[in-house]
Order: sequence, then structure tokens, then C-alpha cells
Amino acid sequence: MTRVSNLGYPRLGEQREWKHLIESYWADKISKEELEKEARALRLSFLQKQADAGVDLIPVGDFSLYDHILDLSVQFGIIPKRFSDQDIDLDLYFALARGNKENVASSMKKWFNTNYHYIVPEWTKKRPQLTNSRLLDLYKEARQVVGDRAKPVITGPITFVALSSGVTDFTAAVKSLLPLYKQVFTELVEAGATYIQVDEPIFVTDEGADYLEAAKAVYGYFAKQVPEAKLIFQTYFEALIDAEELSDIPVAAFGLDFVHGLEENLQAIQAGLFKDKEVFAGVVDGRNVWASDFKETSKLLEVLAENTASLVVQPSCSLLHVPVTTKNETDLDPVLKNGLAFADEKLEEIKLLAEHLDGVANLRYDEHVAAYDALQAADFRNVELEDLSQVRTARKSTYDIRQKVQQERLQLPLLPTTTIGSFPQSPEVRRTRLAWKRGDITDKEYKDFIRSEIARWVTIQEDLDIDVLVHGEFERVDMVEFFGQKLAGFTTTKLGWVQSYGSRAVKPPIIYGDVKHIQPLTVDETVYTQSLTDRPVKGMLTGPITITNWSFERTDIKRSDLFNQIGLAIKDEIKLLEDAGIAIIQVDEAALREGLPLRKGKQKAYLDDAVSAFHIATSSVKDETQIHTHMCYSKFDEIIDAIRQLDADVISIETSRSHGDIIESFETTVYPLGIGLGVYDIHSPRVPTEEEVVANIERSLKQLSAKQFWVNPDCGLKTRREPETIAALEVLVSATKKVRHKLGYE
Ligand code: GLN
Ligand code: ZN
Repeated sequence: MTRVSNLGYPRLGEQREWKHLIESYWADKISKEELEKEARALRLSFLQKQADAGVDLIPVGDFSLYDHILDLSVQFGIIPKRFSDQDIDLDLYFALARGNKENVASSMKKWFNTNYHYIVPEWTKKRPQLTNSRLLDLYKEARQVVGDRAKPVITGPITFVALSSGVTDFTAAVKSLLPLYKQVFTELVEAGATYIQVDEPIFVTDEGADYLEAAKAVYGYFAKQVPEAKLIFQTYFEALIDAEELSDIPVAAFGLDFVHGLEENLQAIQAGLFKDKEVFAGVVDGRNVWASDFKETSKLLEVLAENTASLVVQPSCSLLHVPVTTKNETDLDPVLKNGLAFADEKLEEIKLLAEHLDGVANLRYDEHVAAYDALQAADFRNVELEDLSQVRTARKSTYDIRQKVQQERLQLPLLPTTTIGSFPQSPEVRRTRLAWKRGDITDKEYKDFIRSEIARWVTIQEDLDIDVLVHGEFERVDMVEFFGQKLAGFTTTKLGWVQSYGSRAVKPPIIYGDVKHIQPLTVDETVYTQSLTDRPVKGMLTGPITITNWSFERTDIKRSDLFNQIGLAIKDEIKLLEDAGIAIIQVDEAALREGLPLRKGKQKAYLDDAVSAFHIATSSVKDETQIHTHMCYSKFDEIIDAIRQLDADVISIETSRSHGDIIESFETTVYPLGIGLGVYDIHSPRVPTEEEVVANIERSLKQLSAKQFWVNPDCGLKTRREPETIAALEVLVSATKKVRHKLGYE
């Protein structure tokens, strides 16, 4: 009988019980004992659910009160110096994640190319040592509920060190952890564990190629020291970076991703590299919300079964990255709903696939195939779209011609000042939106309120003497969800939450059908704003790449086709704004950089597709319409060419936290278009001084011409409070005037 395994289960709970629990503890509403008791109840219910679904190997240790990497750092006693005089307990644990009065938190990073963020382990000179028996305790607890099916999960030493900061000698750091892992494994085996899942996703990245020798040494050591432990060398999100070398390491089994790393991993299998091995095959997408294509997956499983010594069926990665269940999504079109699979449905899928492989007939399998086919055939996936070959993919004129006509129209001063789009969403904004959603106020009352907020901020911006105004985005909770709600092909769920970091969860829209512009998205607010002022108002849209990257996207069409569909929709909106007299339109691509594929070899294709879609969205405008874009990130060098190719008239970039680095990218590369390098950090409530802002501008002007430079904050101001925002913008404007004066203007 083919077994099924799971790699990790969502922590949040169906109704986000986990989030509420942890936040209640933070707010001092419940005691530590209550927190622990409730957390245990949740944990056990997750185990039970997986057991009921027929999972043979159920992950233990994936549950966390904040983040599983932080759990491991604390277990190993890897605690930043600034916290070193505190007892190692729950309060320290949360302080590391969130900071406390005395100390800042550890930094947070994206977990590979997902939207989950882990707390970066900060190494000090102190030698790691076990400070608790967390995994063993959890394992013993789990055995009480699911017995032998419990499978401990731990991040492996090489990935752990590779993701750490403050490591001066990689090999020495890994070595210092080995006795700790050995003890953990030994105790688990003594407590009855057989399989132990050791996550080593670093071995799907380019960086992993540097650690092949380390992998042999480390897993050789474990094989010798704890031979009874059946280690699963688990990777996900891509194929093994070097299957030839890695398939030789002495472990009991390999966990491979046959969804996101299908091509290469399958080649390795077909080349016979795993024919004597046990393989845990990730064949159900653990990162997206779609039901699997059973016909294809069953074929794949047969190939895998033929080419391995033993096969276990599982999702491609931990189910942490998908919502819990589709069961509560009662508002969705049944054709769509039946074509979705969240965590619980994915567990059913792996079970059905394994049974099918064994030749066991199950009606649910056939129902699933029918549901999948119905979704593919649905009208909303077969919409007639504009013919792409008829759409402009380059601006009519070159930048220098555009710049001239735009300047004639806009009459902007040297070093024009502007902001990135959003202004503070005050408690009143949030309260009013909630009242409107609940039906306590009418659509008209809500709209009037948004208008009054816009008008108030037009006055503020004029008083500040900002050159290019924005409407402030008060009507948007989120820059992607807002567009999702108005474009055809998108839907939002009731409870489709996934953990982003700590207790923070996001509810990405689902792109389920062909995307099409069917109604104005932003025209009303933008045109209203422009009617209040003589200064140019910048329209504010989110670009195709960012919309895709922050949604659950379709996988039945090529990604580039999806980018292009959204590009067309944005083009239509731009046309409406342009026709309504809006002279400047910004298309935000905040998530362009973070969508970069893990492997260098795949990055160029992604960037090419991104640039094309941006061109589809923005190239049809007249020369005198100025296209802006905005991106938030600090590492630029790898994608500077793509940024240049976007051919946006003006780009604004988040830079103030790493000023030097970024300017360097632009120093070595000729960037002739308009550019605003953020002159102060909006992530902190601190108001910058005029000297600082002047210095930031002047530093940029060493590499960039004053004729191309714009002055703006780093990013949107949505999360800031009003007083500090106004104070900071006052400084921004006065600093700009000072520099203009020094340059002999004004
Ligand atoms: N226009 C958006 C805003 O200002 C951009 C946000 C972002 O870059 N993340 O909020
Ligand atoms: Zn930004």
C-alpha cells in the first residue's frame, strides 16, 4: 500500500484561532498557561484532522507560536547578544520576534520565494547548545494522539546556517550544530521515531551548489552517529541543484518537489539516480489553491513508482502556504469551488492519488477528475480577449522627445516633489470603511467620506507646496485586493488566510478566470482629485506583475499570458484616465523584484515577461502622458537592465535604508530617465532633519543629473500617522527648495 505523508499543516486554524490566541496573549488578555493550553488544543486538533484524512506520516514540530526557524534558534541557544541577559522563555521568544522596550527585534526575511517570513537567526561568538527539548516533547505529545504516524520535522543544519546572519565561518558553524542535532535525533529515536523529516531547501537554490561537500559530510555523520534515524532529506520550491551529487548522500529517503521542480527532478528520476532510493514525492501543489490534475499526476506517479525503490505521496511543500479549507467558501460559484483545493482538500488528494496508484477504485477520484475538467471548460476561463498583436508594445517616441512634451504640459520645477501614493489610513478611515462594509452607512455616505478625506489632503499637499499630488488611496485596504475586486477573473475568499509573518495573515485574491477590465477602477477618485487643484494629480494603479505575485494565480495558462491579460486590463484603465485629462499615471510594481525565480537561469525569462506586460499596460499612451512606476526594494544590481527596459518616464525606488548600494547600481549603469530615490525612510515614525534630506538629495545628484531627479519618500505613507507624515513632508519640501537654491534655481 502506497503511503501518504504531509510536510507541514497551516497554523492559523479555520477561523484564524491561532492568530487570535497569540494576540490575546500579547495584549495580556490571557495568561501564559492559557496560551499554552489553547495552543496545545489547536495542535492536537491539527494532528487529529490529518489522521482522519488518512495521512500515514503526520508532521510534528511544524506548529509554532511564531516561526519554526525562531523555534530552532531558541532551542539551539542562538540568541542575539543584546538579549543575552534575559531568561530563555516565552517572553524572550516573542521579544526576539517583535522587539521589546529595551531591544530591537531580529530581522525578518522572506522564506525562499514564498510570502512567509522567518526570523533570521543571529549568531554570536557563543557556542550553540540545546536549551530545551521542544521537538522531543512535541513528538511525545503527538504519539499520544496519532501513535506511530507522528513524524518529527526539523530544518536541517546547512539550510539553518545558510539562512543565518553573523556567521563568520560556515563550516565551523555547521559543525558546532552537529552534536545538537545528533542528540535531538537520538532522543527522538529512543522515543519511538522512525522517519524524521529534515528540511534542506537551500539545496534547490544556486547557493546550494556551494554546500555539496558539506551535505556529504553532515549526512555521513548522522548516518554513522544515529543509524536508526530514518532521515528524509527534504527539499521543495525547485528541483535539487545537483541531483547527481546529492542523490548519493547516505539518508533513508529523499523528499523532492515534482510541482515546482518537475522538469529537472523528473529527469533525475528517469536517469535512474533514485532507483534504489525511497522517494517522498511532492506531487500536489503546496503553494497554490488549485485542485490537481489527477490524470497527469497519476501518470507521473506511475513513472516515479517505476524508477524508485519505494514511493510515498505528499504535497510539494508544507501546507503552511495555503488556506485551511474550502469548506466555508459558500459564496463561490460551485464550479470554481470544486476546482479549488486548500490544505484539507490537498490531504484528500494525496490519499486518493495513492489509492489510485495501488489500483483501488474510489468514486471521489472520478468526481475530482470531473470537477477539474468542469473548471477548465468554464466560460470564465474561455473569455474573448483583445488581440495582443494589435496592442502597442513600445512608446511612440523616445524618452527625450517625451520628456520635452511632458515638461511643456506639466511645467514642473527642477527636482519635482511628489509622494508614492497612499496617505495615512487614520482610525477614522478604517472605522468608516468597516461601518460601510457592515451596512451601517450607505454607499453614498462612504463615498462622500472618501471624497472629504481626499479634499482635506489636497489642501494639505498644496499647503506643503508639493508639485505632483496624489489622491491618497483612502478607498483601498490593499493595493492588489482593490483591483481584484473590480476586474473580471478575480475573486476573494471569506477565510482564505495564509500566514505572512508572526500573527499577520494575508488573504490573497484568487485569479480564477480570464482577467478583463469591465468597469472603471480608479477614474472617479482620480478625476475628483484633479477637479480640486491646478497642480497635476498622479493616477495610481498596480501593475500586472505585482497583482500576479500577490494573488493565487492560475496555473492552467502560461504565466506570461496571465501577466499580459492583466497588462491589457491596466492599459484600458490608463486610457480612461488619460481621456479624462490625467497627465501622470503611476503603475506600481512593488513586487517585481520579489517574484524573481530562485534560480538565476530562470530569471531572465521572468524579467522579459514582466517587461513585456508592463509595456502592454503603458505603451499606448500619448507622448505627453507621463508614466511613473514605483518599486520597493533595496537590491537592484541584478535587475537594473530590466528596469531600464520598462521605459517608464519616472521611477521611484525605496532606497533610504541602503542608499550607498543603490546609487552604485545607477552609477555604473546609465539610467537616463526620470528617477526618484526615496529621500527618507517611511518605515520609521522618525521625522528626518532637513540636513539629512539635503544630504540624501545631494548624494544622489553626484551620480544623477538634477534634470532627471525627483524628490519623494521611500514608499507609500499608509501605515504612518498624520502628524509625523506632514512633518516629514514639510522637511522634504524645504530640503528640496534649499538644493534648488544652491543649484541656482528659484
Ligand atoms: N502606491 C502604493 C502606496 O503608496 C505603493 C505601495 C508599495 O509600494 N508597497 O501605498
Ligand atoms: Zn513601495
